[in-house]
Amino acid sequence: MNPLFEVKQVDVEYRLKNARFMALRDVDLEGFLGQTLGIVGESGCGKSTLAKTLMCINPPTHGRVFFDGVELTGLSTKELRKALRGMQMIFQDPDASLNPRMTVEGHLKEAITTSKVEYAGTIEEYIRELLDMVQMPHSVLKMYPYQLSGGQKQRVSIARALSVKPKLLICDEPLSSLDVSVVAQIILLLKKIQQEQGISFLFITHDLATLRYLAHRLLVLYLGRVMEVAPAEDMFSEPLHPYTLALMASIPIPDPESTQEPAKLCIVGDPPSIVDPPSGCVFHTRCPYATEVCRHVPPRLKEVTPSHHVACHLYGN
Ligand code: SF4
Repeated sequence: MNPLFEVKQVDVEYRLKNARFMALRDVDLEGFLGQTLGIVGESGCGKSTLAKTLMCINPPTHGRVFFDGVELTGLSTKELRKALRGMQMIFQDPDASLNPRMTVEGHLKEAITTSKVEYAGTIEEYIRELLDMVQMPHSVLKMYPYQLSGGQKQRVSIARALSVKPKLLICDEPLSSLDVSVVAQIILLLKKIQQEQGISFLFITHDLATLRYLAHRLLVLYLGRVMEVAPAEDMFSEPLHPYTLALMASIPIPDPESTQEPAKLCIVGDPPSIVDPPSGCVFHTRCPYATEVCRHVPPRLKEVTPSHHVACHLYGN
């Protein structure tokens, strides 16, 4: 199966007033139609930069980006707009992405007419179909964002993204501003949409527990570097990288009668600044297994099995 989207050996360099730093270094990833690729890591690790790079909002300093069989890097603005029609984004804060002066119907109508997407029947019928998809009553059509709950606003954002029939939905921390009681409903909704529409998700979060229910594959980022990438099942059953182990240790086990052993590795402190990352393995300042070589030699991403790769000197040669 060919990937729907692919990022190959991508570096993204940012320039500050007096400094330059690598927000992403040598990142490879691929995602397939109908599947969810979860990107996980702490704040500032480069997750959102990666999403913007995939959309070429932040073109890579080095490397190549592909979507739906087209190389995006190097396209003109007009060509890029056309190539990106099949890619939509849902943001963390639905308030920031919705116009307070526009009704739900207005938001959906605008997205549909601007994109010139094709649909059966009238635009009103199509809008109702979209509301059904995100399980919202038709009575919200004339409502403004301030009249909706956080969960309803996020459902409107999802409906708007779906209105243009995307192949890929990039979800950038879409649950972090929602009440815990609503999070599970949105996760189930996204899962249902994926099963029914066969679309791909790139799901960005700092919360591995969410990805347990959604992701087919997982990629762990730390200070802009890929630490580990594997099928979700393998990552949860046999995490290898010390940083992944630490992330796993922070997941609560929901069943009090579970006999599952909790992951034990804990790391302390905040991640170092991405502007001035540690030498060698960037995780060495927080890693309990760090040795002298870790302080000087950056580990390469090594194949442990054909689908499981890890960047750590504890594995391979
Ligand atoms: Fe820890 Fe060394 Fe592995 Fe980095 S390379 S994660 S410091 S053991």
